[in-house]
Amino acid sequence: MSLNLSNVTLTYPDGRERLTALDSVDLSVRAGDFVAVTGPSGSGKSSLLAVAGTLVTPDSGVVVVDGIEVSELSSADRARVRRDHIGFVFQQDNLLPSLTALDQLLLTAHVRRRRPSKHRAEAMALLDEVGLADSAQRRPHELSGGMRQRVNIARALMGEPSLLLIDEPTSALDIERGRAVVALISRLVRERNLAAVLVSHDLDTLSPGQRTGVDATVHMQDGRIDTRVAHAAA
Ligand code: ADP
Ligand code: MG
Repeated sequence: MSLNLSNVTLTYPDGRERLTALDSVDLSVRAGDFVAVTGPSGSGKSSLLAVAGTLVTPDSGVVVVDGIEVSELSSADRARVRRDHIGFVFQQDNLLPSLTALDQLLLTAHVRRRRPSKHRAEAMALLDEVGLADSAQRRPHELSGGMRQRVNIARALMGEPSLLLIDEPTSALDIERGRAVVALISRLVRERNLAAVLVSHDLDTLSPGQRTGVDATVHMQDGRIDTRVAHAAA
């Protein structure tokens, strides 16, 4: 099991009270599984990703990433788990304006301090995988929104994480490009045997009817998972 959340509760201070962002949440995602999380704004989707990504420690419950129980780890050890096991894709691509697509990926590798000689080959292979081999030397302003999001996805996969966490990756894109991004993630999940969790408030527009490429859809409301629907393989 690449991601396992059991009985996770997360609260934030809210005046004199506490606001419950996650309420006894259970979620398991295996390698090769692409799970979509949907639900209204404020229902806890980003909180779920923050906890799964070890960025936020829940009040209670167990979080296991790649077999590692992260709940009791020091913050340095949690950072190591993030670096070695988890890739993040956020709504904003957070690309650095002055760097080429290739350098965006190499910068991540540098931060991860892996063997430099391998980084360039890995980065070029990833850009090729997302269809940007010819754009490796372009800077963000020379790329379309969809292409920037693909650089963002390729960057998240540097270092071969096993868990990919994606928060609203399509909200800055039109429907067509949004669907292409979801299809790309789905392909990468299969090819790389990733466990992936994609959060989107507008999943219906992206993938109406049968949710091609997504294995299961989870719906959140008020910090709880109220339904989980498995989709037939396409
Ligand atoms: P979603 O991503 O579904 O919109 P969030 O997980 O961002 O939902 O938020 C869930 C609830 O937690 C909301 O009521 C939100 O206002 C609250 N919340 C989120 N982050 C914080 C924070 N850092 N401090 C206080 N409250 C927060
Ligand atoms: Mg959110």
